[in-house]
Amino acid sequence: MDVNRSIFTAQGLLGPEPGHVIAGIRRTDHGGDPLPVIDPATGARVAEVPSASDALVDEAVTLAVTAQRAWARRSHTERAKVLRSIHTLLGEHAEEIARIVSVEQGKPFGDAVGEIGGAQNFFEYAISQQYRDIGEVIATESGEQLTVREVPIGVVAAILPWNFPAAIFARKVAPALMAGNAIIVKPSEFTPLSAMALAELCRRAGVPDGLLSVLCGPGRSTGSALVRHPDVGMVTMTGSTRGGREIMAQAAQKLIPVSLELGGKAPFIVFPDADIDRAAKDAVAARLWNAGQVCTCNEITYVHQDIREEFVERVQSHLAAVEPSDPFAASSTLGPLVAEREWTKVKSMVDAAVEQGATLALGGGRPEGEQFAAGNWFAPTLLTDVTEQMDITRNEVFGPVLAVTTFSTYDELITRANATPYGLSAYVYSNNLHTVMQALDDLDFGEIYVNKAGPERPQGFHTGWKASGLGGDDGTHGYERYLRRKTSYVGYGPSYGG
Ligand code: NAD
Repeated sequence: MDVNRSIFTAQGLLGPEPGHVIAGIRRTDHGGDPLPVIDPATGARVAEVPSASDALVDEAVTLAVTAQRAWARRSHTERAKVLRSIHTLLGEHAEEIARIVSVEQGKPFGDAVGEIGGAQNFFEYAISQQYRDIGEVIATESGEQLTVREVPIGVVAAILPWNFPAAIFARKVAPALMAGNAIIVKPSEFTPLSAMALAELCRRAGVPDGLLSVLCGPGRSTGSALVRHPDVGMVTMTGSTRGGREIMAQAAQKLIPVSLELGGKAPFIVFPDADIDRAAKDAVAARLWNAGQVCTCNEITYVHQDIREEFVERVQSHLAAVEPSDPFAASSTLGPLVAEREWTKVKSMVDAAVEQGATLALGGGRPEGEQFAAGNWFAPTLLTDVTEQMDITRNEVFGPVLAVTTFSTYDELITRANATPYGLSAYVYSNNLHTVMQALDDLDFGEIYVNKAGPERPQGFHTGWKASGLGGDDGTHGYERYLRRKTSYVGYGPSYGG
């Protein structure tokens, strides 16, 4: 199947040619070098997208300011109706968008269809917020009504990563719009096409012109211009800790809020009383999801020394059974890494671990076979005998590399697991209630899975501690990021002239 070309069709969401989306119109203005979009499975160039200039950023923000004023006057029910149409159209176009996601990001087509289902769930949750309590009435003097109520922020900038280009678009757009904001999306340089298609879908669903724009371009030019724009009132970003720090430093100049969901180094902890079979299966699933490119992936597996042998044996057999294959093959469960740059980074981390004394039990680089010669294919990889001193224990891998280390006591385990600079997710496998509850208290992570793998749910709170971020997405706590509060004192008693 000629998947590369089939994503650009006259009637399709992407249209015949890619570009920014401003006020519902596709724009191809160039403000810098065009960015290539590469199919990670083949290395083929799929498209070139323009980079937005500062002037185009200004145009989009100015339109957003006007559109937001009108949108905020609409009732919650009216906004929810538009979101419901987006939800419906997402269902109708699920395969078309999933195809775009697979072509530009490399995940298996079945997983991409699942990602669109995830995107729908974010809209479903946001729609439920039409019935939320939007303020408080506080006891005060007689003849006075004191209220504190939620109001939208205004124009939100959403800076997206590449690992879930459709779901993370929805994760940010759905609550921002439901809360009464305008939103300008800056997709990742690697995966701009999904956002363009989704913006067109939102237009068809009735999102007013100017309320939602997509601007393509590099983070440090287009992204930074958006963050610095005086009329942008909040930034939500998912990506690297480095990028998050830069964005926060720029937002600090304007004193605007940021919500940052950054990298992770999730420990996957297997206590001696765990269900070993289940833990081994989940350790592999939590590592290979999206070829290891998820911030909640199992980044370092801690297994108690007494069950090490049995656990590693099972993990190895599960890993060995997974074969990378073309994302559009019916049975595909493991696709390529998103970019050559990521492949090189993962390879050098594996090589460094082996040089530092780890044992390479499986994989280690490009899988064998002609079909893997081009593109960013990385074989499922198992590293054992990993120790605390190795770089791979501390740095985020973001690839299909399962690294196993052992521990002997609970206290040692907690100290080592908490030593990471990150604090997003952790996994705990144990059938001992005391151990589980104590670990929930002691682990310094914002999201902990016990005896199960992810993904997270739209009604939870996806929040990273330490270098994993600030703020967070999802649920009522994530929704609140898109709001500020207004206090009013209304006098109505005789002493106020009544
Ligand atoms: P990145 O932080 O460079 O990019 C993420 C987004 O931020 C992109 O849209 C980028 O253009 C933008 N950006 C970067 N610097 C910016 C700046 N100064 N101002 C405004 N926008 C800016 O991350 P990446 O290149 O996508 O991935 C690098 C690493 O980040 C990965 O290897 C992985 O470790 C981590 N990552 C984490 C997640 C996650 O879900 N938390 C997702 C993707 C990547």
